Amino acid sequence: MAPCAELQRNYYTPERLAVMATNIEKYPWARSQRDAMLAAGEKWAAYDDEKLLSIIIPPQVPRAYDVHTFGCPVHGVAANAGGLYKWGISLDKPWKITCPAGGEEYPSNDFGAYLASGMKDRSLLTGEYADDGWGWNKPGDETNYWFVAYYAHWLMSNFTMPAIEALGNAAIVCEDAEKAKLYAHKCALMLWKLAEYYPDYEYKSQSREAKEHDPNYNGKWTNMIWEVKTPNATAYAYDAVRPLLAGDSELLARTGMSAEQLDEYIRDRLLREAARCTIDGSHRIQANYGTHQQSLLRLAAVLRDSDKSPTSDEMLEFIIANPRPTIYVDVGIEDALVSLVYRDGMPLESIGYNGGWTYSLAAIAASLIDLDINFYEDTRFQKLLTWPFDVMVCGKFVPPLGDTGDMFAAGSALSPTAALPAAPHFPDPRVVKVARTNPAAGNALFSPPASDALDALPPSDDVTWGVKSHIFPAYGLAYLQSGAVGTQTSSALFYGNYPGHVHYDQLNMLLFSQGNAMLTDIGYPEQTDSRNHKRYAFFENTVAHNTVVVDSHKQTRGPGKLHAYQPTGFAQVVDASCEGAYAGTVSLYRRANVLVELSPTQSYLFDAFYVDGGKQHDYSALGAPAETSCTPPLGPVQEKGTLAGEDVPQEHFYDDERYATKPLGTMAYTGYKGSGFQFLFNVRRASLDGPALFEWKLRQPGEGETQYNWQGVGLRAHLLLDSEEVIAADAKPQTYARMPDTIQYMLRRRVAPEGQELNSRFVTVYEPYTSETFIERVLPVALQPDDGNAVAARIELADGGVDYVFHSITPEQTYTLEEGITVAGEAACFGYDAQGAVCKGMLLNGTRLTAGELTLESPGQRKSTIVSVDYSTGTIEIADPLLAEPFVAGQQAIIAPDTFADSVTMRGVIDATHLSIGDEDLRVASGPIKEVLADRSAITTMVSVPHIQDGMTVMNGLMQPQGRVGSGDKITIDRTGYGPLSAEAFPPGADGSHPRFTVVMAAPGDAILIPSYVEFVRK
Ligand SMILES: [Zn+2]
Ligand SMILES: [Zn+2]
Repeated sequence: MAPCAELQRNYYTPERLAVMATNIEKYPWARSQRDAMLAAGEKWAAYDDEKLLSIIIPPQVPRAYDVHTFGCPVHGVAANAGGLYKWGISLDKPWKITCPAGGEEYPSNDFGAYLASGMKDRSLLTGEYADDGWGWNKPGDETNYWFVAYYAHWLMSNFTMPAIEALGNAAIVCEDAEKAKLYAHKCALMLWKLAEYYPDYEYKSQSREAKEHDPNYNGKWTNMIWEVKTPNATAYAYDAVRPLLAGDSELLARTGMSAEQLDEYIRDRLLREAARCTIDGSHRIQANYGTHQQSLLRLAAVLRDSDKSPTSDEMLEFIIANPRPTIYVDVGIEDALVSLVYRDGMPLESIGYNGGWTYSLAAIAASLIDLDINFYEDTRFQKLLTWPFDVMVCGKFVPPLGDTGDMFAAGSALSPTAALPAAPHFPDPRVVKVARTNPAAGNALFSPPASDALDALPPSDDVTWGVKSHIFPAYGLAYLQSGAVGTQTSSALFYGNYPGHVHYDQLNMLLFSQGNAMLTDIGYPEQTDSRNHKRYAFFENTVAHNTVVVDSHKQTRGPGKLHAYQPTGFAQVVDASCEGAYAGTVSLYRRANVLVELSPTQSYLFDAFYVDGGKQHDYSALGAPAETSCTPPLGPVQEKGTLAGEDVPQEHFYDDERYATKPLGTMAYTGYKGSGFQFLFNVRRASLDGPALFEWKLRQPGEGETQYNWQGVGLRAHLLLDSEEVIAADAKPQTYARMPDTIQYMLRRRVAPEGQELNSRFVTVYEPYTSETFIERVLPVALQPDDGNAVAARIELADGGVDYVFHSITPEQTYTLEEGITVAGEAACFGYDAQGAVCKGMLLNGTRLTAGELTLESPGQRKSTIVSVDYSTGTIEIADPLLAEPFVAGQQAIIAPDTFADSVTMRGVIDATHLSIGDEDLRVASGPIKEVLADRSAITTMVSVPHIQDGMTVMNGLMQPQGRVGSGDKITIDRTGYGPLSAEAFPPGADGSHPRFTVVMAAPGDAILIPSYVEFVRK
């Protein structure tokens, strides 16, 4: 018999083991990592072989990650108080779980004995809470209590998988050869048993999920998302023990196989099976983007097959350039970066989940460097690494939009773990600075310390982030930031339409000031489970957000549109609309914010919200936890019911029969489109006209709750009312100990007169302060003409000065504010000092502002056409000589305002017809072409292209325009001006590579709007 010389390690190469040895010799951290691995391995090695084999659950035993939506049969939801997965499991008590509320055990029968009977002898199902694996049923309950399945799931997850991983680690780091053999023996034994079962695990027929929720929910022993645990725990462990198989005669005798046979048994039934489940389109292993790709990279590294499919090359191809993706999370990284990540670097989910994309892809990029594949040079990948810096406001907050964070908005930029491997290849000063904050974060036993490379990188000491106004034009999120670093006031306006982990929150506006999130968002719901009624009825519902609810319904969501963004000066502006938020109901749904800086510590926010259409408008605003008050005062607290009515109790689905009749938590609530008003209680209301003042005075956080800056801190909302009802109401945030019991909303309600459509112009001036307020009062300004297309406020300051803020949706129209004060423009702000002299003024996208002795003139926003775009240098040539110095860098030029409406950031003016956009990426999709369908004037691709919109330009692989995206199946091409489509339009690459397409959002022929801005500040 040939020696087993071929059973070598592929991941733990001699080079990698030499790095380990050097690290252990030189560094205490390496010795403590090794010691921790040895201790974990030793813990598992103390169990005898039979015990370790017994913790690998056979496929015929069902699995469940939850016992029951309602907790314990005896203690109910009290069992969920500390979290959903807190039932006790112990290796000393096989097949029993312990209630976290009462400590009692379930099930009542000995399931081990029943399993030993082949799950046949039902006389063994004894006692009050007997469970045959498929759960115990409480009489009258539609769903079961899954004691055994819960045990099976969490045993595999928290014991079996960690045991295999720990024993593998111990086998590789242990210097004592005999001990190493023992660890390897136990690890290999478990791998063998798992390989026996692994092909037969089928989640969609063997789980609570399948039986009670969705018979098509995929996975293996666990669901498709968590199934990555299997390759993550076993791949390197297998590699560690592989050379030791041949010498383990006890193991070979037990398995009845030769070392080669056992090796192939584990490779095929466990590791290749996991790879197949990931890449074969069956979606049995499929997690968030990048996660299963990371697992696959491990499998490719240890298998190194070139003859047995899937080969390691096939796995790498799946990761980098998957030729046959069937769902977006399977698109290869190269195409995902262009087609799934927005061109501003943001992935297509909520900010919280976008972090997952960045960290997964950063980890893959770090691993691919070993294979000489360098994604750090890719400019889109660089933006994917740097958005976590730009997404911060006031230098410390991350807006809790969609499924992200909580109302306190705590956040941090890129983590050192992601920054450390990136820094040497992409020495962005922010990335380098983060890496330097914690060089040890990247220390791994088998890699040279990352700190070695940091010394050679450029200085990064005085780099800051999250303190300047920033816009993500493709994601649709614009920040205004004023004041000095440390005492900033910042606003965030969301006008985008990303698809993943969304809330129905378009035109949501958040405000940060006084070291707090002052107008905020509840953020991540308690659960994203479809049966969580609170998530679908309230946490994600429109009324929970700082926007306008139309006709007591959740928004529909649709594309948003930026009208202006002015990120500099004493009065910064953002102006956006989202009529698609209530498609078919509204003809106008637009919000403009002007952030006015008075001093380094004092700023106020002017907020104008325009809504045309529908019968009822509810403007909603969620402050920080506070005592609220209103002047004039509101009525007494409504004793019974909720905002939905005195007869509507909390959480009752009063406006959707489908959900109203069944107990909460027993069905999927994804179809709820109602108001969510039943979650607002302690309602106080008053019908008011004219100016009013609503105030949140922050209250002291309770013990154990998240602490925040509250002493003397308040937010005043100066309301310019027009036949409105002002409503104060409370709601409950997530039921976590760290959250306050209630949170405080202000609503402004307008209702249409009988038989009429409603038009609303909500004007609010927000004044965040500590101890002393600085606005005396805010008064409405009567505009002439009174056409409803413009709004203005007169803000009388405590120091005797007076500011005016103006906004218009018809910038060409001249409005008279008062005798001698006229404006024609999109936004204007000007102010008088205490002596009545004009001290400041600004005019955005306007032609003329006259106020006393101040006159500001400018050309106004002008329209031109793009003549050419140099995509490599970031230069746009326009048809008309409209570009001139002085120039304000950072403004947005609007592209194709009448079709897909996107915008580019103006970085500089080259000459009157040439604009620089720096390194801004204009690509919104790219991929290999599957077919050119000449008869339908369309191309097909396997890549998901969620960001392309009608009217955008389709380029071939040579970046030559081939027409515009037309309506119809993706990707139909409107060939006007290009002639009929043929395959020649999309030639192969110069190197003979497969024909490709790219879609861009700025190309010759597109309309472009050039903004204008003029400012006066008295010295
Ligand atoms: Zn209990
Ligand atoms: Zn939200």
